[in-house]
Amino acid sequence: MPEKTVLITGSTSGIGLTIARAFAREGYNLIFNGLEPDGEQIAAAVARDHGIDHVFDAANMLNPQDLRTMIRRAEERFGTIDVLINNAGIQHVSPVETFPEEKWDAIIGINLTAAFHLTKAIWPAMKQQQFGRIINIASAHGLVASEYKSAYVAAKHGLIGFTKTVALEGAPHGITANAICPGYVKTPLVEKQIADQARTHQIPEQEVVEKVILTKQAIKDFIPAESIAALCLFLASDGAATLTGAALPIDGGWLAQ
Ligand code: NAD
Repeated sequence: MPEKTVLITGSTSGIGLTIARAFAREGYNLIFNGLEPDGEQIAAAVARDHGIDHVFDAANMLNPQDLRTMIRRAEERFGTIDVLINNAGIQHVSPVETFPEEKWDAIIGINLTAAFHLTKAIWPAMKQQQFGRIINIASAHGLVASEYKSAYVAAKHGLIGFTKTVALEGAPHGITANAICPGYVKTPLVEKQIADQARTHQIPEQEVVEKVILTKQAIKDFIPAESIAALCLFLASDGAATLTGAALPIDGGWLAQ
């Protein structure tokens, strides 16, 4: 198999880390990214376990120059990047009336605008090699709303719109772009929401999971991060060459209702 390289933002925690492990198992070179203080060690451990080449870059999604530099360094190291997975994301839950303005800006910046900067920076090389796979980790909240998540819902809807546009522009150049729309996955991002809701509603965390978090999913289980990783591997494969511009739910039947 020819050597391939994947860059995954926010890959030192949660879903991104599980995706990174899945690509490492397939022998991809990896560019890890994330703000975890022990990110460098997390990345090195995955690379060691699977005998792959890797770099870790702590580029902040809110700093466009950091993002351009991360792409340039990765291209210098590996030649080209075949797969870009825009996964880094944050959440904040609050009514619109009191939604902190700095949280709005950060959510739009990290969950949406960073994907634009990275796609723009990677585009010339993908176009040059007439191959590229761009996978954006959106959310069921990219297709439907829930109250108190205005910035997140706006960012994820925007990310799906961006994905569709990039799919159209990439089509003549062998570049596909798709969005994955997960339901709830048990990661630090969701564990924080569970704890916050338990405090707000003064109910045990298990009750929050059953009555608040998973109410909209027909299947009352968290989505395994491994399922999202498997879908990413498929989207990166030759079998998915004509699958582009899609927003793919993996949501326990949330959007079927
Ligand atoms: P997580 O908190 O476990 O991981 C988020 C990652 O993003 C971390 O590595 C973090 O360091 C990184 N990150 C955050 N801000 C950053 C910044 N400014 N610069 C660089 N990196 C930054 O969360 P997760 O649940 O694994 O979420 C991953 C993605 O999946 C997000 O886009 C999230 O919106 C999406 N998602 C999650 C769920 C869920 O239920 N957990 C559901 C649907 C979609």
